[in-house]
Amino acid sequence: MHILWFRRDLRLSDNEIVALSTADNAEVLPCFIIDPWFYQQAEVGKARVRFLFEALEDLDRNLKSRGSQLYLLEGNSLSVIQGLTRQLLQKGDRPKLFFNQDVQVQYGIERDLQIINYYKQHNLSYHQGLNNFLQTDGERRDDWMEEYYTYLRQPLHLTPEHINTPQLQLDIPQITFSDLKQKYSQFWETENTYFSGGETQAIATLNSFLDSRFHGYHWKISRPWLTQQGATSHLSPHLTFGTISVRQVYQSTKAKAAELASNPKVQFSLKAFRDRLRWHDSFTQRLYFHPELVDTNRYPEFDEYYSPAELSEEKQELFAAWKEGQTGFPLVDASMRQLKTMGWMNFRMRAMCATFLCINCGISWHHGAEHYMRHLVDGDLAYALLNINNKQQQQRTYFFA
Ligand SMILES: Cc1cc2nc3c(=O)[nH]c(=O)nc-3n(C[C@H](O)[C@H](O)[C@H](O)COP(=O)(O)OP(=O)(O)OC[C@H]3O[C@@H](n4cnc5c(N)ncnc54)[C@H](O)[C@@H]3O)c2cc1C
Repeated sequence: MHILWFRRDLRLSDNEIVALSTADNAEVLPCFIIDPWFYQQAEVGKARVRFLFEALEDLDRNLKSRGSQLYLLEGNSLSVIQGLTRQLLQKGDRPKLFFNQDVQVQYGIERDLQIINYYKQHNLSYHQGLNNFLQTDGERRDDWMEEYYTYLRQPLHLTPEHINTPQLQLDIPQITFSDLKQKYSQFWETENTYFSGGETQAIATLNSFLDSRFHGYHWKISRPWLTQQGATSHLSPHLTFGTISVRQVYQSTKAKAAELASNPKVQFSLKAFRDRLRWHDSFTQRLYFHPELVDTNRYPEFDEYYSPAELSEEKQELFAAWKEGQTGFPLVDASMRQLKTMGWMNFRMRAMCATFLCINCGISWHHGAEHYMRHLVDGDLAYALLNINNKQQQQRTYFFA
């Protein structure tokens, strides 16, 4: 029996652990753990939780169409994996655990280490795959670009047509989708949904981008109204939750470019888009090697300006105005209201509002990043924090130069 543990890789296509665990028609138990820890974090917001639940439902549907199903388990991730493994051992199985490596906050890093230790202590095998490209050997950082593009050009992992999942009576807490939505209804109840979760939707979004929306990407990316209408891909939440792989997006984009090879404008747009996919992975990589950047300044000379310390009363007022889109600066206000309504802003507006907060209001990026994380449907530590940390310090340097 193979335990197939989905985390931020909620897809069947181009997924290393799906391809490997299901090979040779092996028995597989696909699962996702609803860990209460996640829902208690200050930066967790409605848009992201809703997207996650939709992605899980879609994964379950896609598994069912292949003769399988998603086991939705509930509890502390470490205890759940240990309990599940114990039960399978008692039934006479020697389970092998499959999960993809991810860039984690401290909770996730410790959890994964403990799970690996547990498997080693019990002499059980496990396989840690890759969700997207990640270089784990710090000694080879100079070869990053070469290794990165080698990975992107490799064939996609195959999607199984059938998945062999036996019906199991498990004596560990499980939750149904309807109970899940009821239990976390404070996240679920949103008026409008601008981004729907799931692999099926991810593929549809990629296709619609490559059908027509990508034309003029390189200049439209700086026009907030056009980007809201779909001039950029809107794939970011899908990449955040792994409902599609960067490699699949990259290869589809290359195929489109080859199809329209004689059109230089198309080549320019698609190249600009592919470069951003690389930014995505390079930020993840940076967080992997520098997890301290989640709460420390990139350059220590900024420590006197930026800290997570509580804000003075005057700053609290400014911060509240920024969050509510009430600063009196129309472009900032429109963008901040868009963030609250839609859970999304385009790249330039994210940078501009962050700059406004840090430089014009003198409020640390720590506070702004938490607000971004709580509202962005694609909220991801690697991008929200590192982008804001990085950008503000670069721009502050220009500002004082
Ligand atoms: C202050 C700040 C905070 C940000 N926070 C996040 C975040 O929490 N989550 C997130 O996914 N992106 C974040 N970004 C990056 C970027 O703004 C979004 O990825 C992009 O706007 C999402 O829209 P899209 O998918 O239509 O992008 P597209 O323009 O279609 O780009 C395609 C993909 O490339 C990647 N990408 C694009 N721009 C960047 C960038 N600047 N850095 C890293 N990757 C990029 C994303 O994965 C995106 O989905 C942030 C940028 C800034 C300046």
